[in-house]
Amino acid sequence: MFFDPLYILLVAIPTGILTFWAQSRVKGTYRKYSQVQSTMGMTGAQVAQTILAKKGVQGIKVEPIAGELTDHYDPRAKAVRLSQGIYGSTSLSAAAVAAHECGHVLQDVEGYKFMNLRAALVPVVNLGSSLGPMLIMAGLFFNILNLAWLGVIFFASVLLFHVVTLPVEFDASRRALRLVDELGILQGAENKGARAVLSAAALTYVATAFTALLNLLYYISLINRRR
Ligand SMILES: [Zn+2]
Repeated sequence: MFFDPLYILLVAIPTGILTFWAQSRVKGTYRKYSQVQSTMGMTGAQVAQTILAKKGVQGIKVEPIAGELTDHYDPRAKAVRLSQGIYGSTSLSAAAVAAHECGHVLQDVEGYKFMNLRAALVPVVNLGSSLGPMLIMAGLFFNILNLAWLGVIFFASVLLFHVVTLPVEFDASRRALRLVDELGILQGAENKGARAVLSAAALTYVATAFTALLNLLYYISLINRRR
């Protein structure tokens, strides 16, 4: 299948270009605003601690983690983990990313429905991303199209997961931008820098969802060509 010229032309190349473009935009924007320090001079860790304190959220750890752009909120450990370039940095990128992860904390505290749905889909996706294509290939190989369609249903869970990720990420960024402005963590035009960083990050999630969509459509077209 992956040697199918149609797959390379219609799926692999466009999604590859889109993913590469989105990732380089994230890195470029992130690095640009890593050079710009905020007037308030709060580190990423201080931004996170301030937001959580002002929002009355207790029992969440803010801790450093190795790597670049490895920042995340772990709902099970109740920990906001900030990468080295964010945790101790007073840049606009640091404020934006730290606030974004706090956006996820607030979603967790409020029981934001898309976040719960996304968490519930994780085991399904792990199964669907491996079993789906296998069933499709087996179904096509043995000419059992119902088996192939079952694979499509499994793989559709992957698309659903990435689609549900979009509102979760957009909402966390929306909350982040409101908080850094309202709490005076960033001043005036600094907010635009934070918005640029988070908008670029959102693009990568769109690229991932689009990749899953094109793959699913390709699988469906493969089965349809058999009939
Ligand atoms: Zn996020």
